[in-house]
Amino acid sequence: MQFIDLKVQQEQLLADGRSLREAINSRIARVLDHGQYILGPEAAELEQHLAAYVGVEHCIAMASGTDALLIALMALGVGAGDEVVTTPFSFIATAETIALLGAVPVYVDIDANTYNLDPSQLEAAITPRTKAILPVSLYGQPADFVAINAIAERHGLPVIEDGAQSFGAQQYGRRSCSLSTIGTTSFFPSKPLGGYGDAGACFTADAELAEKMRRISRHGQSRRYFHTEVGVNGRIDTLQAAILLAKFELFEAEVEARDRIGAALSARLQAFGISSTPKLAPGNTSVYAQYTVQVDNRAATQAYLKEQGIPTAVHYPTLLCQQPALAGQGPCARHCHQSCSCPVAQAASERVMSLPMHPYLSDEDLVEITKSVADAISQCN
Ligand SMILES: *Cc1c(COP(=O)(O)O)cnc(C)c1O
Repeated sequence: MQFIDLKVQQEQLLADGRSLREAINSRIARVLDHGQYILGPEAAELEQHLAAYVGVEHCIAMASGTDALLIALMALGVGAGDEVVTTPFSFIATAETIALLGAVPVYVDIDANTYNLDPSQLEAAITPRTKAILPVSLYGQPADFVAINAIAERHGLPVIEDGAQSFGAQQYGRRSCSLSTIGTTSFFPSKPLGGYGDAGACFTADAELAEKMRRISRHGQSRRYFHTEVGVNGRIDTLQAAILLAKFELFEAEVEARDRIGAALSARLQAFGISSTPKLAPGNTSVYAQYTVQVDNRAATQAYLKEQGIPTAVHYPTLLCQQPALAGQGPCARHCHQSCSCPVAQAASERVMSLPMHPYLSDEDLVEITKSVADAISQCN
């Protein structure tokens, strides 16, 4: 069994009867025919589809989820000495992009049920230097944007959703990436909507911010060889956009399958008495970018499962505030402990374990995974 099976997806049939593999081949062939490898028509076509799907006016397709975050922060004017409030329990890119701009990530501990930034601790982290709030919708379910946006509004602060893992999920009927000032996502191959290389996107309802993010992603160029601001090379490749256009045709069905498979995994694990299954907050759906449980004796449990042929992974073993690259980066935890240890996130980082998850897990796979996990937990914990 594979942790994420990216091959079986290629055999799936699209509405017109072609396999995904065939659709991708013809999309790639079209790009090779027209030859516009940078800023070709597929990039704009992808942006239209994604904006309509998410339900916001503007989508700017980017070269990666990391570039999407960096460019969103740049567009909001985040720079040296500013503070950006975020979560310590995420992939490095969340805080790395803040630090890269000379700003300071200020960490707020997570909610024990959802693993997302705990809004009840957010206000205490806001200072006169705070420039933005950057919650992550971890493992596939949105952070609590109702509560976070209310606090942000009181303080006149913009909110960026790092939706790298939650593309396709909903909160009270609205899609992830439409829930705040800017939403960013990633199309890294193993993400819910994955390309065959690096790509990402920014979403916003604000036309001015959209223009700014587009400009920054193209070297701050306002017309050919005339640059009005310092930018980066952060736009999507035409070929990657073409591949994503083909894969997007399967996406709605895959989001449904993820919802169904996530619920089935939880029901089966709970029947074995395992209670640390993912917990959805009211109004939320999840796309289960990761299906994550907690165990007491993680190393032994993982080793046992590996022997049974069940791969597992840990997202994430080290908190962002403890990463050598980011540690000592200013007063990062004035609202956490002095030592910058957020206790809920710390406990999670020592206990979480992600199981195989993708939209094409069969019923037999589900039986095998859940039975092996139950065995492993009773043997090792
Ligand atoms: C994957 C990921 C990113 C970075 O996306 P890339 O496309 O790999 O640059 C950022 N934040 C989170 C939470 C992620 O999971």
